[in-house]
Order: sequence, then C-alpha cells, then structure tokens
Amino acid sequence: MEAAWQHFAHLADQDRLAHAYLVVGAPATSGRAFALRAARRLLCLAPARGEGCACSVCHRIETGAHGDFHWTEPQGRSRQILVEQVEVLLRQIYETSFEGGWKIFALSYAERIAHAAGNKLLKALEEPPPRTLLLLLTHEPQSVLGTLVSRCQRLTLHDAESAEAHFWEADLRRLLEQGPAADLYAELTQAADWREMLDRVKTVTGERVRAPFAGREDFDEEALEARVVAATKEEYAAIFSRLERWYRDLLVLRVGGEAGHLLHPEERALLEQQAARMSVGGALRRLRGIERIAARVERNIPVQVAFENGLLG
Ligand SMILES: [Zn+2]
Repeated sequence: MEAAWQHFAHLADQDRLAHAYLVVGAPATSGRAFALRAARRLLCLAPARGEGCACSVCHRIETGAHGDFHWTEPQGRSRQILVEQVEVLLRQIYETSFEGGWKIFALSYAERIAHAAGNKLLKALEEPPPRTLLLLLTHEPQSVLGTLVSRCQRLTLHDAESAEAHFWEADLRRLLEQGPAADLYAELTQAADWREMLDRVKTVTGERVRAPFAGREDFDEEALEARVVAATKEEYAAIFSRLERWYRDLLVLRVGGEAGHLLHPEERALLEQQAARMSVGGALRRLRGIERIAARVERNIPVQVAFENGLLG
C-alpha cells in the first residue's frame, strides 16, 4: 500500500485531502488497514510518533471505540449496505464530531451499497461538511455504483495493483477440472476434496495474518483472531465468486449462449466439455448451492457446516 499511502499522507500534510476516496484493495485486510491508518493519521494526539503510537486516540481507533471513526459494512441476509445504514451514517456526518476534529467514515465492501442507499449517500459525497472523510473500500471497483465512483478520488492499494494470483488458484483450478460428478459416490468424494481445500485456505490465511506477530507479545489476541476470521472470509468470498462465475458460464453454454457472453472466455474449451455433460437443472442446482454456502459463510456459520447440503443439496 506504500504508494497510495504516501500520496494520501502527502495530501493530508498539505491539508489538500479530497472528501471521498474509493480505496481499491481487499476490504477486510489491506483496505481496513488503510482506513485505520488514515484515521490515526488525522486524529492521533501525537502524529510525530507515527505508526507505533499508542496514544489513547490511536488505541480507541484500533479497538473500534473512537466516536469519530465510523465503520459500516454489509448487513442482513442480502449482504448489502442498506438505506437504514446510510441514514444512520448521514446523521453522523452532519452531527458535530465528538472530539472536535475530523470524522472518518469507512464503508467496507462499497460494491454492496444498495442502489437506494447509494442515492442517499450521494448528497454527502457532493457537499460534505468540512473535515469529513469518506473511504469507500472495495476490491471490485467495477461493481460500485457509477454515481458514487465519479464523486470519489481513487487510491489503488498494492495488493490490488499487483495482479498476484490467489495462493489457492491452482487448487481451485484442479477441482474445477474434475467437472460434474458422474454419480453420488463421485459427488461425495468431490465434496470431501472441496472441504479439504477450504480447510487449507483457512490454515494458510491464518498463518499469513499471524506471521508479522510471531514472537511479539504487544498485540491483542482477540483482535488478531478477528482479523484472521475476516481475512479467511475474504478468501472464501473470492473462491465462491470464482465458482459462481464458472457455473454461470456453464449455464450460458448449456442453453446455447455465445462464447462472447462468457465471463471467462479463456476457459472456453474446458467449459464446453463440461457443459456437454451437465444438465441445465444440474448447473442451476450447483449455482444455488454455491450461493447458499457463500451466504452462510458470510453469516459466520463455519464453512464445514455451511457445506452440508451446499454443493450436495
Ligand atoms: Zn496516536
């Protein structure tokens, strides 16, 4: 995130910050880190101390207890940022700040701001009160409402910049290559393979999040565990989104759609092979199963439980 951060910090130093930024990067990890860093940069009692500062303000920002740092994320079964949430946020935007300085509003997964909610938010993006900063965090900028995007400056974090493949890409590809199971036994075996892959993703993600804290004692175990959970959910969401796209493509081909309508035209040969072996009903069933698992994982149901009746259901 260095380049994006340096740009932001430079603008902050010169008091030239825009009032709204679209922060492109993984919302639960690098996006969240950026929002916290921005809030600390603007609110800290001793900015000269920099990153390591443990003043009461920095501490409260880290623990989510600061009255002028607001965090909004998708809620409910629809997994969207809803009108009611934006209404609360607007009230907070137009109230005076608790501590007399900046007010920072982070909206995590900005691509899930529902249409009506986005319209409400526009006013705040157009004429925000002074010393108000809105950060729209997203890893899918192309899915954020255009009216919102056009009112934000864009900051691209380095994880989004480097098109580095996910570490699980090869595993996922291997599972997709298996194609539709021929019988119940094959289906059960495949389900076991999927569970094993998701477990591995969870383990590796946990190790990655924890690595920087190895041998240190100055961290909050609960906060770290919450970060592991958030990062794991983010990887799962990316996997399910990839799966959904795969089955949408299969359906397109199955109903005689043109290759030009594929989300992954580069996979056309393999998709065509599999589409020929799959019924429309089968592809739809898979697609609904994946959506069901994704929704359950989003609601914090452990993935093993979510999986039951998921791909098999
Ligand atoms: Zn501080």
